[in-house]
Amino acid sequence: MSDILQQVKDRDPQEREFHQAVEEFLNSVQPVLEINPEYRHAKILERLVEPERVIAFRVPWLDDQGQVQINRGIRVEMNSAIGPYKGGLRFHPSVNLSILKFLAFEQVFKNALTTLPMGGGKGGADFDPKGKSDNEVMRFCQSYMCELFRHIGPNTDIPAGDIGVGAREIGYLFGMYKRLANEFTGVLTGKSLNWGGSLIRPQATGFGVVYFAKEMLFTKEQSLKDKVCLVSGAGNVAQFTTQKLIEFGAKVVTMSDSSGYIYDENGIDDEKLAWIMRLKNVRRGRIKEYTQKYPEAVYTRVDSSSDHHPVWDHKADCVFPCATQNEINQKDAENLVKNRVIMVTEGANMPTTLEGINVLMDAGILFAPGKAANAGGVSVSGLEMTQNSMRLSWTRQEVDDRLNIIMQSIHKTCVETAAQFGMPGNYVMGANIAGFVKVAEAMMDQGVV
Ligand code: NDP
Repeated sequence: MSDILQQVKDRDPQEREFHQAVEEFLNSVQPVLEINPEYRHAKILERLVEPERVIAFRVPWLDDQGQVQINRGIRVEMNSAIGPYKGGLRFHPSVNLSILKFLAFEQVFKNALTTLPMGGGKGGADFDPKGKSDNEVMRFCQSYMCELFRHIGPNTDIPAGDIGVGAREIGYLFGMYKRLANEFTGVLTGKSLNWGGSLIRPQATGFGVVYFAKEMLFTKEQSLKDKVCLVSGAGNVAQFTTQKLIEFGAKVVTMSDSSGYIYDENGIDDEKLAWIMRLKNVRRGRIKEYTQKYPEAVYTRVDSSSDHHPVWDHKADCVFPCATQNEINQKDAENLVKNRVIMVTEGANMPTTLEGINVLMDAGILFAPGKAANAGGVSVSGLEMTQNSMRLSWTRQEVDDRLNIIMQSIHKTCVETAAQFGMPGNYVMGANIAGFVKVAEAMMDQGVV
């Protein structure tokens, strides 16, 4: 294992996020290799850590002043052993190959856990939609798709949204794909309802996170009712995590964006959340405006270079990091332990550092890794693909029921797999092993490709 990790580090020394994701995964799968030596001979791990294909391309576009702007677009097609590549697009200035490789790597095992036939991929650009006009975003998306369209397709690679890519961006990307490919197919998920989208897709990741959390608490004969919860982020995942938590009787006291966070001791209720959704999705404003509308809340500015995030200092029962990678480090995790948090459920991808995970798990806190807990989004994307192929639309209830069943099944798989390998309650191990075995078996069946 350490040889493989070292090879990954030597080959691309600057890809720190990718190394982190690979290390977390390798720490879990050793016992599987011991009972399946054929995986070693077939070099399954060595193949898994190397993307099947990486596409990098120039994205030139004109801003509103008529100036030429140039960004870098990337698509990482990581593994297609169990289905076409599937995974979101991220538009954020921090996007680079390391971040997209870590996200694509995680996506491979997440998609395997959903029970749906989807391989793993991820893409994006170092483009920042914040502060751009709709026309600028449209021109960027159109230019991005001018190159990406030749690499994707409904049976090849089906992108979706992620940070900075919501319904608006998916619309512009789809419009250009349709024009270039001259066909109307389910090549992207997260589409609007009246042109091929699925009900519950916008809500799916957040709702799924909470369904998963409910199952975890149930193993301790507890529920979410009256639990005080810290949520980070104020985007898609954070909004619908908060909505479902409110519905289940929990009290959410924080939400954040990259500038800072709000703490509302009285709890964010449905009315306040609707206001936040308008603020973020329509006005595209900042979370600090919340305190102008609700003066009882407190806003704290966060210094991005600080070594810990003060949002995790507050007393709470349950924690839902839903913003971005590495937002809970060792020090944050120690604060959560000190404050007697009972559960951390990752809504974002890899929001907890390796050191942070160790602190939480050593303290016996229920800990759900993103690749299991946030798999509801890609699951409903899979259901959107099915509906597109069948040319029909399921009802809201039908999709929500299927989402709930999938999250329960992922939870059961994690619990049973961890117990089978002698680590009961270890969701990290359960998720990594179950996802790995499914992909490894498919790779063995398909030969050296
Ligand atoms: P959004 O763009 O809708 O929201 C992201 C939120 O996180 C915003 O509030 C944003 O603040 C904040 N944020 C982004 N970058 C940083 C940063 N560097 N530091 C602090 N805050 C930051 O994205 P999503 O809600 O879709 O995604 C959130 C997380 O969930 C990501 O990790 C994503 O990969 C993961 N995820 C998303 C899925 C989906 O279906 N959308 C599915 C599965 C996982 P600001 O506006 O200031 O940038």
